[in-house]
Amino acid sequence: MDANIIKRNELLAQKVIKGLESRNMSGYYASNKEEALKKALELIPEGSSISMGGAMSAHEIGLVEALKEGEYHFIDRDAATDKRAAMLSTYDADYFLSSANAITEDGVMINIDGNANRVSAIAQGPKHVIFIVGMNKVCPDVDSAIKRARNVAAPINAQRFGLSTPCAKTGSCMDCKSPDTICCQFLMTRYSRHEGRIHVILVNDNLGF
Ligand code: SF4
Repeated sequence: MDANIIKRNELLAQKVIKGLESRNMSGYYASNKEEALKKALELIPEGSSISMGGAMSAHEIGLVEALKEGEYHFIDRDAATDKRAAMLSTYDADYFLSSANAITEDGVMINIDGNANRVSAIAQGPKHVIFIVGMNKVCPDVDSAIKRARNVAAPINAQRFGLSTPCAKTGSCMDCKSPDTICCQFLMTRYSRHEGRIHVILVNDNLGF
């Protein structure tokens, strides 16, 4: 990566981290995927129960594999035969892994969801939430963050899951009410009342969508 891009991302990450801290959340900067993995594993003690939403970024830094192979209780919803029981156990997990569809320069996170399992667990339930967020998700403000979520993340996710939504066909949001819409719930995480619950690892890389 170009040295000027690295410098810019470091400076921008410090601004985001300050914003997160002003909102009672913790932020960290990782200069690459390996550092991000190391930081995440420092935050999660062995023996913890862990669940996750559809966090591509956690896969991309190798965190999911490390947790499955390590001394942790990983709640694997995809492998579970009783999906509902696995989903409900998420709310009692020690740690929940997520990414963000977008994060503002002053530390507000935007996430949209169809089934709402991800946004509901971010909002309440798991004792800790760890976000893995590539610097490609940083947006200047809430308006641009929502636009990113609807016009970048949602169309790609709709295509990924083979959904029949207008954005899957056009590549941008048409504000649909399609039965397949993944924009049922919008969560704006702007403050945490619970000290030490939310941790955000900003990664100097393009992660997720
Ligand atoms: S509202 Fe519909 S068209 Fe817009 S991003 Fe969501 S699913 Fe796609």
